[in-house]
Amino acid sequence: MKNLIAKLSYRYPNINFKIGDKFYWSPESSTVFYEISDSNQTDSWTLLHETAHALLGHKNYKTDLELVKMELEAWSKAKLLCRDYDITIDNDYIEDCLDSYRDWLHQRSTCPMCNMRSLQNDSSHYQCFNCKHIWKVSTSRMCRPYRLSVTK
Ligand SMILES: [Zn+2]
Ligand SMILES: [Zn+2]
Repeated sequence: MKNLIAKLSYRYPNINFKIGDKFYWSPESSTVFYEISDSNQTDSWTLLHETAHALLGHKNYKTDLELVKMELEAWSKAKLLCRDYDITIDNDYIEDCLDSYRDWLHQRSTCPMCNMRSLQNDSSHYQCFNCKHIWKVSTSRMCRPYRLSVTK
């Protein structure tokens, strides 16, 4: 892990790598924050995933759908990156992460009144096509590379 961070910061001098309380990419400070844990196998995958967000220039997004799209892009990029470092990212892990996002999106976009799938109005509201009900959602956050527990 240390080794990988050293290699990445050498290769991408424009990206800062700093220890944080979790893994995430901060576009404001051009920093990839990473967690130090005891040899967790998925750590290097997550680090590459966050680095991919950085390389793709991901900033803020307006809708949940946009966020899910960014996650998808970051994983595809991470899969290309990992070859340079002799790392293989488990496809099942990626699918699990993406599934969590899809489940989460599904939950948020389903009308609580009539169960119809709907589109997002703005960053914090959805409106149902069918019954016109409007509901508020918490602002979505980039980067939950772990399997989410889906709660509403
Ligand atoms: Zn409805
Ligand atoms: Zn991400």
